[in-house]
Formats: sequence, C-alpha cells, structure tokens
Amino acid sequence: MSARGTSRAAGRSGPASTAGPLACDVAVIGAGPGGYVAAIRAAQLGLKTVCVDKWTDGRGRPALGGTCLNVGCIPSKALLDSSHHFHHLQHLLPDHGISVEGARMDVAAMQARKRRVVSALGRGVAGLLRKNRVVLVPGTARLTGGAEDAAAGAEAGVEIEVRAADAPPRTLRPRHVVIAAGSLPIALPAAPIDGERIVDSEGALAFEETPPRLGIIGAGVIGLELGSVWSRLGSEVVLLEALDEFLPAADRDVAKEALRILRGQGLDVRLGKRVTGCEAGGGGPEGGAVTVRFEDADGDHRLEVDRLVVAVGRRPATGGLGLAEAGVERDERGFVRVDEHGRTSRGNVWAVGDCTPGPMLAHRASEDGIAVAERIAGQASRIDHRTVPWVIYTHPEIAWVGRTEAELDAAGVEWRAGRFPFAASGRALAAGEAEGFAKIVCDEGTDEIHGVHVIGAQASELIAEAVAAMEFRASAEDLARTIHAHPTRAEVLHEAALAVDERAIHL
Ligand code: FAD
Ligand code: AMP
Repeated sequence: MSARGTSRAAGRSGPASTAGPLACDVAVIGAGPGGYVAAIRAAQLGLKTVCVDKWTDGRGRPALGGTCLNVGCIPSKALLDSSHHFHHLQHLLPDHGISVEGARMDVAAMQARKRRVVSALGRGVAGLLRKNRVVLVPGTARLTGGAEDAAAGAEAGVEIEVRAADAPPRTLRPRHVVIAAGSLPIALPAAPIDGERIVDSEGALAFEETPPRLGIIGAGVIGLELGSVWSRLGSEVVLLEALDEFLPAADRDVAKEALRILRGQGLDVRLGKRVTGCEAGGGGPEGGAVTVRFEDADGDHRLEVDRLVVAVGRRPATGGLGLAEAGVERDERGFVRVDEHGRTSRGNVWAVGDCTPGPMLAHRASEDGIAVAERIAGQASRIDHRTVPWVIYTHPEIAWVGRTEAELDAAGVEWRAGRFPFAASGRALAAGEAEGFAKIVCDEGTDEIHGVHVIGAQASELIAEAVAAMEFRASAEDLARTIHAHPTRAEVLHEAALAVDERAIHL
C-alpha cells in the first residue's frame, strides 16, 4: 500500500472530467458523513478514490455533506442554538440580573445565518475531498452490469453509471464500491407532504415565519428537536405520537423526566394518538390551514394547525441504485444487508451509514465509513455499534450510550445503578441549569459499565466521557476513582459512579 498522497491517489481535485470510463480503487456513492469520510480515509490509505453525490444547492451546484449537513444535524442545531439564545434571553437571563427590553426574533435573519453555516461547512467538505485528492463526480449513481464486468477488470463485479443534468453519462470502473446513499423521510399516506402547509423535517427547518399553531406527527428525536425550535420562537406546538410510551429507546427514568420537563416548557406532547388523515386548505372552524384527524383510545378527534410537520422516521434511500440487478441484497425494510465488516452480499461492494441496519446517526455513519475504508485497504477494522452515543438536542439535552435497565433485564443480565441529580452540582446551579440527572448502570457481578443515561444541559458533551469509559471497558469503580475538575457538570457522572455503591458525597 502506498503512503498517503502518493501516486495511487487520483492526482487531481474537483469534479472529474467526462472522458471515458474512470478506473479507480474505490467508488463511494454518497457524500454524507458516511460517504465523504469513507472516501477521505480510503484516499489517506493511498487508494485512488472517487466520490459520487447527487445533492445540489438551489443553483444546481454540488452540495456535499448529505442529509446531515444540508437538512439534518447541522441546520437543526443552528436553529436550536438560535432559538435557545432567544429563549434564554427572555427566561433565564433575568435570573442572572440581565434584562433586555423588547427582544424580538428575526426569523429570516436566523435562517440566513443557518444557510451560511451550512454553506461554509459544505465548502469545507469539498476542500477536504480536494486536499485528500478524492475525485468528486457530481450526479446520480447506479450500479450497472454484472459478473461480466469482473472479466472486464472491474473487481467489484459491477460498474457504476453516473448521470447528471448537464453532462453526458459517465462510467466508473471501481475495484470496490462503498454504498453510502443515506436515508429519506418516511411518508405518511394520512398526511401527504405539499411542501407548504404539510412538510417533512426539511420543510420545517426552512420556515421563514413562526407558525402560530404547529402540529408535529411523531414525538421522536426529530419531532422533539423541531418542536423545541418553533415553540421557543412562539409557536403553540402539539406533538401527536402513536405510541403510548415516550422515547421507548431511552432509559425509563430519563424518558419520564424528559416528558415532564418538555411539557413544562409548553410542548404539548400527546401520546397514544395515531394520525389517520388530514385536510389542507383551510376552512376549519378555527381557521387552521390544516385539519388533522387522529384516533386514540377514546375515539376520533380533530386538531387544527397552521403548519403540520411529518416526522415519523426515516427509511433507507436504496431505490434506483440498481442493487437488485447487481445482486446486492436488501432486507424487508430496504436496508442493504451487511456483515460486521460492512460487506454486502456482492463481491467487493460495501455499505455504510443510514442505508444499512443500525442507528441512523451521523457519527455512526462516519465510523462505519472509516472501518470499511480500512478493511478495503487490508486492515483489520470492524464495525461495532455497541458504544454509539445517542443525543437528543432538546433543552436540557438527553444523551445515552450502551444498554438500558430494560434491555439488561430482557437479556437476563443482573445490574446495579447509581444516579445523581444536576441540582446537587455546584456548576449546574451556578449556571442556572440544574434540571435532570445522570445514571450509570453497571454489572452486578463485575461492575463493568453497561450503560450511561443523562438528561441535563450539555449532556451531548458529557456523554463523550461515558463512551470513552465503555470503550475501555471501565467499571463504575474506575469512574468513581477518576478525578473530575471542580466545579464542572462532569462531576455529576463521577457522583453517579460513586452512587452505584451508595457512596455519593454530595447526596
Ligand atoms: P446521508 O447523510 O443521507 O447522505 C447520503 C448521500 O448520498 C446524500 O448526499 C445523497 O445525495 C447521496 N446519494 C444517495 N443516492 C445517491 C445516488 N444514487 N447517487 C449519488 N448520490 C446519492 N444525526 C446525528 O448523529 N446527530 C444529529 O444531531 C442529527 N440530527 C438530525 C436532524 C434531522 C432533521 C435529520 C433529518 C437527521 C439528523 N441526523 C442526526 C441523522 C443524520 O443526518 C444521518 O444519520 C446521517 O446524515 C447519515 O449519513 P449517511 O452518510 O449515511 O447518509
Ligand atoms: P423517530 O423514529 O425517532 O424519528 O420517531 C418517529 C415517531 O413517529 C415514532 O415514535 C412513531 O411511533 C411515530 N409515528 C409513526 N406513525 C405515526 C402516526 N400515524 N401518528 C402518530 N405518530 C406516528
């Protein structure tokens, strides 16, 4: 294997020219956090790498970074931060003695800032691909051919055809293919998207005005984050969730606390409400642009809102890729089947991120991408999702890693837990953000940490310590004996570890 940046790298940057089939070591389909990271890592390892992506900005120019950068993690966090500042200014800062008269929100300015953040990061991804000599081919990729391509020198046994709006089709002849095609919002026939009154998460990130009444179908991660943004800016937000249980994947105590706090903030989370239909176009008795019909244990109901967001989950974007014809198997839900190395049922075809089974999270997609690139380069990396952290960026944030008590019970594992509240943390109290707690769940016999569950300000940052501890297979005792700076929020993790043995100091 040649070293980074040497002769096997593609040797040019920016979009590829359109002449003849392009032979390469690795062709990555998708430039989201799974694909562009896989491409960069492959190129670092000296593999001649091409990355294809079809996403374009409003002016038809390639927009890299996938869902995460364009309509996911980054724009949602930009809006969450903007709306949080506005909310803080009005509701938290007076307690610090700071008062501002006449605070108002300029939604158009907030959206313009969001677009600047997205576009700066998109240019950053393009720059990283260039720096690593990854050849970018804009357009829509499709696997073509079959076994006969192996004879023609395509070791993956497939070729890739790339079509773009204003260029002739292009053929790639890769030794390896990495499918990183990502995911799309799940459509709900009961609430068809019209892009204006009924929108998906992408539409809800782009409102240019705060809707007075906002309905959200689905109280999952995305629904809660979007609901938080618009509620802080003044919308009356109602979330209709079909399940009776709130955040079923989270720790039960965390979910209970989250529901209490979020409802207290004004998010009207209604559980056990299944949406059955919608009428858009106004005319409702209360003047709402959309009338939502839903059912619960008591029968049928209606809700009038000005905008409706459908946030009922995401599905793999694996249609139109030519996978069936190429012999790349998918499961019954459309996810590409992969083994623990990310290898599909077809030769040297690999898949990573949201289009494969597993947590639909950007950092997981990127880690998959790195592991697959290293496998292709002959290294022994493997994919392990046990320590993928989860974060919900409400305020306070919710974050966890590893297993919940319920999952351990179901697996017949005996556990003990320690819990410590932020209300007993000097740092959290000084900041005026003392809601929530951290819980550490560890093995009854060995004391190894099985899971860490946090609800509290900056839980997204705190969880990194827990992930590192679990990666090193730490015990609760290890964390209890680790010195944490004072005063910090991280001391709550330290105390929770002490609490496992009922020896927390400040409780
Ligand atoms: P994607 O990011 O979806 O990228 C796939 C790429 O493949 C796209 O650019 C697409 O254009 C391209 N593509 C697809 N098919 C083809 C084809 N045939 N030819 C060429 N190109 C193709 N995750 C987090 O970890 N943290 C968060 O805070 C977070 N917030 C989110 C908020 C929202 C509102 C949403 C919708 C998602 C959020 N996610 C978050 C999830 C995160 O965005 C995804 O898990 C992540 O983007 C998956 O990365 P990926 O590379 O697998 O796919
Ligand atoms: P997530 O998968 O975290 O994005 O959450 C999506 C949520 O939408 C899940 O909690 C689903 O239960 C919920 N959901 C799916 N279909 C409906 C529906 N018809 N009405 C209300 N909620 C729904």
